[in-house]
Amino acid sequence: MTEVYTADQVLPVGAPPLRQGAVAVQDGLIVAVGSRPEVLGAFPDAQLEELGAAVLLPALINAHTHLEYATYGGFGDGLPFGDWLADHVARRPRLAPGDVEAAAALGALLCLQSGVGTVADASYSGAAVAAASEAGLRAIVHLEAFGGPDADAEGVVAALRARLATFAGEATPLVRLGVSPHSPYSVAPAVFAALDTFAQSDSLTVMTHVAESAAELEAVAAGTGPIADALRSLTRIEATGQHSLDLLAGAGLLHPGVILVHAVHVNAGQIAVIAASGAGVVHCPRSNAILGCGAAPIAGLRAAGVPIGIGSDSPASAIDFDFWAELRAALLTARVREGRPDALTADAVLELATLGGARVLGIDGLVGSLAVGKRADLTAVDLTDTPYGVAENAATAAVFAGSPERTLLTVVDGVVRYRKGADTERLAACWAAALPGRTRMIGTDD
Ligand SMILES: [Zn+2]
Repeated sequence: MTEVYTADQVLPVGAPPLRQGAVAVQDGLIVAVGSRPEVLGAFPDAQLEELGAAVLLPALINAHTHLEYATYGGFGDGLPFGDWLADHVARRPRLAPGDVEAAAALGALLCLQSGVGTVADASYSGAAVAAASEAGLRAIVHLEAFGGPDADAEGVVAALRARLATFAGEATPLVRLGVSPHSPYSVAPAVFAALDTFAQSDSLTVMTHVAESAAELEAVAAGTGPIADALRSLTRIEATGQHSLDLLAGAGLLHPGVILVHAVHVNAGQIAVIAASGAGVVHCPRSNAILGCGAAPIAGLRAAGVPIGIGSDSPASAIDFDFWAELRAALLTARVREGRPDALTADAVLELATLGGARVLGIDGLVGSLAVGKRADLTAVDLTDTPYGVAENAATAAVFAGSPERTLLTVVDGVVRYRKGADTERLAACWAAALPGRTRMIGTDD
């Protein structure tokens, strides 16, 4: 069976946009991308989906999520980083069995509703594995690991290995597992190194939060400050005298397959070190703005050739999983930081949110653009009742008009996993299942 999707504007990414374009899909694989008459002529018996006044583009790649925090929006808003982290840690024990799973299921569906076909998740509980699998999302779920300077590094690795084996049974072929040493402040250098060695031996990607906040830099260098205070009951933090990024680089922990989330506080020399290492960066502009962490030097990282993706992080810091809002934030943040409108164009933002993210995750041979031979992961933004229905630039149209409400469908591996209208009740059911956990975290039900 062949399906053909047509739209007024097709944005393949990595190839020029097409007016009145079409994409043909067979068995989950893209078999043609071209003009509408050309593709329909080649596949006259195909099942046709006409999207009309829309931009059809590769499904977006949200390169850093925490699906299980889907209901945390607004928690601790306005608190300094250390207090915000302490608030997050304090609320978690109030959750009841099933709350985390319900939130992760909601998070997976909200990502699909936002045009996202792939997520790279960092998961404390592992609930994202089942959530992504059941939703049909493509995912790499990195199980989080922690361990201070007093931890037994090999013991942390053994525990993680056992958890990976448990969750592997819940994963569909679209869902892979990875390792997430949480951050250089919550994972001591020896533990980090042991986790990295294990990940490399098992060809797993490594995701870590690094150079995010001034508080992190103080915790890692001096073992003091708001993060050390917030985590005192959980772990000791040892002074290393180093910047987080230099610490990882010096220990040989930057290499291909390592995903550096945030990289806000990095200078030109450190950008050059990242570029030379082959590690990738995930930019989370809304999270960084809301927590007052700063604005990552995306223009500099791009100029150095670092693979870069965009991530929403979790609603705990970034409000929600509206990835279109994240893309606009990336564009605005870069232009504010650099003081020039060409610091990040809409075309560049969409490239980061598709092919760029795929490169960071090492799956750019599989997804990230509409190209013959790639898996059929695609989405479409409705341009009806917007200025952008009158075509000028397809990327500007998608970035400026995109929203969960305007996402017509999201296809993953050739299967429609979200469709506007058809999934209204499913969304409502996911919200209804997940919100009692939020009520418990707020603490008004007792
Ligand atoms: Zn995060």
